[in-house]
Amino acid sequence: MDAKYLDEHLRKSMRYSRESDNPNKGVVAAGLIFQDNIVYATSEKFSDGRSIHAERNVLREYKERYGTLPNNGAIMVATLSPCHCLSEYREGGSCIELLTGSDEEFPNFSIAQVYVGFIDPTQSIDSHLQNGFRLTKTTAQDQYFNPENYGKPIDEFVKQALNDI
Ligand SMILES: [Zn+2]
Repeated sequence: MDAKYLDEHLRKSMRYSRESDNPNKGVVAAGLIFQDNIVYATSEKFSDGRSIHAERNVLREYKERYGTLPNNGAIMVATLSPCHCLSEYREGGSCIELLTGSDEEFPNFSIAQVYVGFIDPTQSIDSHLQNGFRLTKTTAQDQYFNPENYGKPIDEFVKQALNDI
């Protein structure tokens, strides 16, 4: 898929986040694209500190809407690159495990490509090479992460990360 197409869906995932009235919505948005099927979701953060990452929520949303996840060839857009660290507060394992067939909830799912708004500064594109999917980053960051346009779903961490790039 070309960058323009993926940028459009990245933008739509952010719009989805901005317009969501879920009181628990978190700061990361994601979309899952397979052929003509597309869903969006956000991360969620709860008062007890527990969180569900956007990548997991978008798989749940897709499965709920379409009944089953795509076997191969799906593309994910996400405002932030997928996590690989341990976290006791996150529901389920890391998003890298989730996207590479190593997840308990979605053991047979693996993604073909992940297209992100920016790379978590603790990671690098090179660190994702071994994951078995293609990770690329938009070049249109100013447009997506302008706080005037998309400030609402983006927390301080994201703003700081962008300043650091
Ligand atoms: Zn994650």
